[in-house]
Parts: sequence; C-alpha cells; structure tokens
Amino acid sequence: MSATAGMRVFCVANQKGGVGKTTTTLNLAAGLAQQGRRVLVVDLDPQGNATMGSGIDKRQLRHSVYDLLLETAGVALARQRSDKGGYDIVGANRELAGAEVELVELERRERRLRAALDAVRGEYDFVLVDCPPSLSLLTLNGLVAAHGVLVPMQCEYFALEGLSDLVNTIRQVHANLNPELQIIGLLRVMFDSRITLQQQVSEQLKAHFGAKVFDTVIPRNVRLAEAPSYGQPGVVFDPGAKGAQAFVEFAHEVTRRFG
Ligand code: ADP
Ligand code: MG
Repeated sequence: MSATAGMRVFCVANQKGGVGKTTTTLNLAAGLAQQGRRVLVVDLDPQGNATMGSGIDKRQLRHSVYDLLLETAGVALARQRSDKGGYDIVGANRELAGAEVELVELERRERRLRAALDAVRGEYDFVLVDCPPSLSLLTLNGLVAAHGVLVPMQCEYFALEGLSDLVNTIRQVHANLNPELQIIGLLRVMFDSRITLQQQVSEQLKAHFGAKVFDTVIPRNVRLAEAPSYGQPGVVFDPGAKGAQAFVEFAHEVTRRFG
C-alpha cells in the first residue's frame, strides 16, 4: 500500500471536458523527459487523445489500459514508446468504455490501476495519468493509484464552482481508499492576460488555494492545439512557441516542488 518510493504518480483530472487535461499530461511528460526523468503516461480516457497525441494509433493497440484494469496484461506488455515525446505510454481507445461496466462486477475494482503500477515501481520517476472528463470508476482507479492530483483549469466565471465536485471526490478517496492522495496543484491553462475576467478569476484562485496554485501560467497558444494532429506534444513540435516554453517551465516547477 505504501507509496511507490521514488515513483511519483500524478493524476491529471478535472471532470470538465476540453479544459486542457490531455495537453497538460503530454507536455508535462515531454518536459520531464527532456530533463532526463523516466516518465510513463497512462491514457485513462476512452477517447484516446493522449494516445493519438503521442504518435500512437489508438485503432492499432495490441494491449491497452483496458488490459491493466481487467488484468489481462501488465504495464510491461501494454506500454509503447512515444519516440517524439521521450516517454512510455499505455494507450486507450473505445474499448476502455466497456471496462467501466465489466469492472463493476469485479473485486478490488477501484485498485486495478494501482496494482498494475506497483509492478513497475522503480522503472519510472513520474507516472502521469490522463483522466476522462468524469468522476467515474476509471477516474477513481486513477485517484486510488495516485499521490497527487494536478488540476488544469481555465480562469472562467464558473471555474471555482466546477472544482467543488472534484475536491469532494478527492476528499472521499483520501478518507476511504487512498490516504496519500492530495491536490498537488492547480494549473492555469489557456490563459489570456488581456481578458480582465481571467485575471480576476486567477486572483480568486490564488486567494482560495494559495500555494496550491502553480506559479507557471500556460497561455492560450495555437501551436499547442496543432501539435496533437502531428502525433507529438507541443514542447517537441514547436519548442520556440510561447505555450511550449511555458510547459517546459512548468516541468521545472514540478521537479523543483516534487523532486
Ligand atoms: P481535455 O483533455 O481536458 O479534454 P485538451 O487538452 O484535449 O482538454 O484540450 C482541449 C482543446 O483545447 C484541444 O483542442 C487542445 O488542443 C486545446 N488546447 C489545450 N490547451 C491549449 C492552449 N494552452 N492553447 C490553445 N489551445 C489549447
Ligand atoms: Mg483529454
């Protein structure tokens, strides 16, 4: 049960879709890899965007996260290399949506991912779990496996309200299933400093969450949005772009804070 010593497992979660979870996962992974860290990405979303964005065809997966959850394959068999990203990834596709239903019947249903990751303890410095936009059994598997939750968010009007369900879920998992779990930080993404409302929400966030708000801010930058269609993270696709530079800085902030 104890923390996989040395291997930090972070969930990238927010129950809203389109808030930058996958972009954060892949660019942080690539940024950490550039620092020489050994990184594993776990795509826990049946949409398979992290898989495709890492240059791996989700329609051609021999093994996937589905196998980790159903215990039909381990990480060693299911992982693939993202050559461009510099990290390993266990991919996902539509099949994973079925795992939700199948898992309900099974024992230890919320501990399957944790068990799979325990088997590769020592092989990675960081594991980043890209969660689906829900607080489902899939996300629960991520939260039970993780030391920390990293929450990307846009500084919009209802941003704080939207966080309360996630914060409550994290509290429950902390109390009942995984005492190590904590929110490690809120990352402001798709930020546009020209928009007064975004600055105001950003200030509210800092007032509310204090040091849990990462210093690094990820700007809205079209190069980050273009990168996935080339099967690579933005930090690799166009290292000179503002968004890429922000994610490289963010990866440094993460290693400063968490080793
Ligand atoms: P999620 O995984 O939460 O659904 P994504 O990471 O897929 O969110 O991001 C949603 C969309 O926004 C994608 O098309 C992505 O390319 C785009 N996007 C994410 N971050 C940025 C950014 N900083 N600037 C511009 N576009 C972004
Ligand atoms: Mg996503």
